[in-house]
Order: sequence, then structure tokens, then C-alpha cells
Amino acid sequence: VDVLTESQRHRCMAAIRSRDTKPEIRVRSLLRTLGYRYRLHVSGLPGKPDIILCGQQFALFVHGCFWHSHRCPYGRVSPTTNAAFWQKKRRDTVKRDRRNLYALRRQGWTAIVIWECWTRSPDKLSKYLISLLKGLRQNREYQAPSA
Ligand SMILES: [Zn+2]
Repeated sequence: VDVLTESQRHRCMAAIRSRDTKPEIRVRSLLRTLGYRYRLHVSGLPGKPDIILCGQQFALFVHGCFWHSHRCPYGRVSPTTNAAFWQKKRRDTVKRDRRNLYALRRQGWTAIVIWECWTRSPDKLSKYLISLLKGLRQNREYQAPSA
């Protein structure tokens, strides 16, 4: 006998799906594969970055396309009910994001946004991350004082 009602079962399935596909988890596991160590949700930094690399001033935000208004098909969806409410909420989020990135960069951090839609393609995501991290290393070498 199935103890769940139709709607309960539906909710469970939705929860499982969203947990399995969480973009942040994809980014983390990729970083792990590449041999990087990181910390998560570090408070005390502007915007509480989702991921920072240990020993480097490198912060990553993994942003959902809808909430953070990415310029992509997922980010351009506009809800039909309470449109004004959602619009304001999302606009405020974008403003806050901009402020946080700016504040982090002023403190000497490299702050990068990874969009949810990029994480849908593991190949593209790993190419992007690898080139990003390579650039970070080169930058640091460049900035190092010459002996
Ligand atoms: Zn997007």
C-alpha cells in the first residue's frame, strides 16, 4: 500500500530532483577532482561567498539564473502572478550581488560568478573552471615581487 498521497509523492520527487542537480554541488565536486581545497559559505566576507579556495583570495558564487536575473532563457522567465513583487525582489538581489562583488574585489579578492545554466554542461563548466584557475595562478606569479 502506498502511504503517500499523490501530492505528497510529487513533493518528494521534486525535492530529490533539486538536491541531485544542485549546481553548487557540481562546482564543488569539479574543484575536488581538480585537486583544490575549499571552504563553504564563509561568513565575515561580503555576500558570504558560496566557495572560497583555501590559501587564495579566490571566491566563487554559484548563482541561480532566475533569482539573480541572468541574461539567459532561465533568467528571463517572468512569473505571471505577483509580477511586480518578484521583479523588485530580483532587482534587489542583483543590486546586492553587484555591491558584494565590488566589496570583495576592493579587499583584494578575485570574485567570480558561476551561473546555474553553465553547470548544466559538465564539459563546459570544467573547461571554464580550469582556464579560470590557470589565469589565477598566472596573475599571482605576475604580481609576485621579482627577486
Ligand atoms: Zn543562466
